Amino acid sequence: MALKHEEVCFIGGEWVKSRHDHMLEDINPANGEVFAQAADASPDDIAQAALAAQTALDDRSWLGMDPLERGRTLGRLAQLLREHRDELADVMVEENGMPMNFAQWLEIPMAADVFDYFASLIPITGGRTLPFSLPGPQGDYLLMTLKEPIGVAGVITPWNFPLLMPSWKVAPALAAGCSVVLKPAPETPLTALALADLAQQAGIPDGVLNVVPGGDEAGRALVRHPQVPKIAFTGQTQTGIEVMSMAAPFLKRITLELGGKSPQVVFDDVDLDEVVSGALFGVYLYSGQVCQAGSRVLVQDTMYSQFVEKLTARAKALTLGSGKDVTTDLGPIISASQRERVLSYVEQGKKEGAVLMTGGKAVDRPGFFVEPTIFSDVKATMTIAQEEIFGPVLSVIPFHDEEEALALANGTRYGLAAGVWTRDVKRAMRVTRQIKAGTVWLNTYQILSPTAPFGGYKYSGIGRELGPDALEAYLETKTVIVDGNEQALAFF
Ligand code: NAD
Repeated sequence: MALKHEEVCFIGGEWVKSRHDHMLEDINPANGEVFAQAADASPDDIAQAALAAQTALDDRSWLGMDPLERGRTLGRLAQLLREHRDELADVMVEENGMPMNFAQWLEIPMAADVFDYFASLIPITGGRTLPFSLPGPQGDYLLMTLKEPIGVAGVITPWNFPLLMPSWKVAPALAAGCSVVLKPAPETPLTALALADLAQQAGIPDGVLNVVPGGDEAGRALVRHPQVPKIAFTGQTQTGIEVMSMAAPFLKRITLELGGKSPQVVFDDVDLDEVVSGALFGVYLYSGQVCQAGSRVLVQDTMYSQFVEKLTARAKALTLGSGKDVTTDLGPIISASQRERVLSYVEQGKKEGAVLMTGGKAVDRPGFFVEPTIFSDVKATMTIAQEEIFGPVLSVIPFHDEEEALALANGTRYGLAAGVWTRDVKRAMRVTRQIKAGTVWLNTYQILSPTAPFGGYKYSGIGRELGPDALEAYLETKTVIVDGNEQALAFF
């Protein structure tokens, strides 16, 4: 398979061995077997990649390119992602276990669209001319702003969307004219290297996109590297806090996309079957390993038992299996340790008095599978209602009225996303305005668009990715004031 690059980093346009002898084992979570070895970058490798990225900035091979040609180059990358869809999907399914349909019909096409979208912003992104004001007689001044790339962007991504998460950052960074050092998750290095391969084929100059597979130490080295002024990070909230504190002494520009415990609020005026389907998709997509998973379903008490009964029946009918099997609804959990973590939350839920309606066990087969799990009678204070589990575990919580629904919806430290299911437009608007979350879906869940800003309130992050303003996260604004008067203003 041409796109499968084992044991290497991609630095300065070349496939190079890590300076570290140690390798990362790429494990297929659907059978627990090691299927590839990947580089485990050392801080020296990170420094090498940062140097290559800085050299590419200095020689202006990318930024000096005609802006329309830069856009066309990103467009070619989008097209190559589409053309290599099947090959890429094979790599992705093998290393992170996602269902093949999900890789082929959602993640890869969306990643391609993200590159197209940011390519389209290149020719319309620039500074402004603005009115100039100074006390005293009006002089002749020209005030303008220029937009300039921040410099080298350090990109650190998780394993759950191995192509999409890098794309959300690499596409705007490249559109802004930055060069990039991408440190992908240790669980999914090969997908990131495949992206680098296609970027090179698309004509992105050497050193502009560097990919350095490695673990948490490599991530730390990137955050602490003095020549990397921008860090774009997606991962757990606790890691984000550490990233922020490591970046603070350098005053680095940071974007943090972190965890969530998102609510889906279901009022009793809805069509029950429709919402049960929506809620299932909201929580079990990719086995719940999705940052915006609607892992708390808040249901009005008048329809609570009916809802729980239908939801449980539907969850029991879902099929677990390898992502390669097209009939699979839920693939595996990413690793044995993450499976244990999910199961320990299940035990905690039982201990704290929630009622286990279905699931709750590991599946007796090779790989790391957990049954789709539903708890009812969950109280807002329970651990399973407060902490991000990142697995197929759903808490169903009853509420009496709108006021209580809002208190529950906003009652965690997170604020990534929320769903509201109701046919009452006025109520939908009231609730939407009062929910503290970066995205609110009305009568739907999970759907995203390259044009839609995405990010979190509260402990779910800082900044927004996607959408028209996302480029700003990779740009500095330079103010230029031109004095057109005969005599320059001077007090002395
Ligand atoms: P993680 O925080 O363990 O790791 C994420 C990345 O950070 C990995 O590449 C890892 O090697 C690196 N890393 C770990 N410690 C580091 C450190 N101290 N300094 C620098 N880099 C470090 O997260 P994960 O378990 O891989 O991913 C799951 C998490 O990601 C979940 O919490 C999920 O909610 C979150 N997520 C958020 C979004 C979003 O858009 N908000 C999207 C996807 C995933």
